[in-house]
Amino acid sequence: MRCCVAHEYGNWCHDEATIDVKGKPFCVYHAPSDASEKPNGKEFYRLVQDRIRDEDNGCVFDGTIFPKSISLRSFEVNGTLSFERCQFEGNLSFYSSSVRGDLSFRGATFFKKVSIGEDVNTKSSTRTNGCYQTTQVPGGVQALVSLTIDGDVRFEDAIIHGSFTLKKFSNGGKINLSSIAATRRASLSKISTGELECENAYFQNVVRLLDVVIAGKADFNRAKFNAFATIIRCDFRDLVYFSSTEFNSRLRIRNSRFKETALFERTKLTEASFPLCHFGEHAVFSDVDLKAVSFARAPIESFYFVGCNWLQFKGRAITIDVLGLKSSRKYEKIPSPLPAVRSLPGKDQRNASAKKLGELYRRLKRLARIENDELLASDWHYLEKRC
Ligand SMILES: [Zn+2]
Repeated sequence: MRCCVAHEYGNWCHDEATIDVKGKPFCVYHAPSDASEKPNGKEFYRLVQDRIRDEDNGCVFDGTIFPKSISLRSFEVNGTLSFERCQFEGNLSFYSSSVRGDLSFRGATFFKKVSIGEDVNTKSSTRTNGCYQTTQVPGGVQALVSLTIDGDVRFEDAIIHGSFTLKKFSNGGKINLSSIAATRRASLSKISTGELECENAYFQNVVRLLDVVIAGKADFNRAKFNAFATIIRCDFRDLVYFSSTEFNSRLRIRNSRFKETALFERTKLTEASFPLCHFGEHAVFSDVDLKAVSFARAPIESFYFVGCNWLQFKGRAITIDVLGLKSSRKYEKIPSPLPAVRSLPGKDQRNASAKKLGELYRRLKRLARIENDELLASDWHYLEKRC
């Protein structure tokens, strides 16, 4: 008898033996996790492992229900390794392997954490009798250093309830996180990829991109970041899109390089800063509320503003930098912005801070003049002279 859901997943399991689940035939992969005849954790894991080893030209597990945590390592797959629409009820770790095609988790649901990439150290923790023990993985560091994926890493439409970590690998294709929903922290670090697609992605918790190199375009259009988002030491070598992206908490882009234009179009910025970034072309802010953007140490000469709203004080444009505050939320309570600088402790600190601010407004003034906005230039001039 053939597995009753085989046709939903391209019939890849049609040769597999079936078990009876409430009168219906299911293969062991698609059987629900509470089916009494479904192999238990270790046995199931061995089946998966053997299947990957046996298939030379790629391997499909679409729709599989993984009942326990699974750690896949040291495989070589000559084609695509596909886990589309799978359910992972435990943790998933994927290390030290090579996949010649795509590694796809499209539409998968993860109830626990996901980590994909190189093992940072060779130690792993196992829980025995309620205590965590650290065990050395045989083979040492050398055996575990590389994860290579020639094609795409696909997570579009995936739902991830645990933490999500992609770390230390390079892939020839793109990383696709379109329409992903991640409820816990998400981290991409030390990755080199062809393109990054995050369109319509939803991140409920903290997101961090660290040391990520993206050779092609990076698309964050309409993505939602509900907690602190940081982009540090990243290298964007093509266009970067933040159109209608919502940063509902802080955004900090630091020490990052944008070779081509970065487009912030109708982007919602709640608190944003761009210290020590470099833009080879422009960072275009179009129709953006700049009320809570800090311009300190930002490469403002590369910024281009179209139809943006500035923070206003008594009819003049100001920036939150003049308030000496990280947040514009406290701004309403301040009777005048300048005393916030003048009230800094110590004369030297006051002078240094005022000097830096004066310099910032001088640069903003020059920029406003280049863009033929005399009114804005006069607001910056007013602030420059009072710092
Ligand atoms: Zn099946």
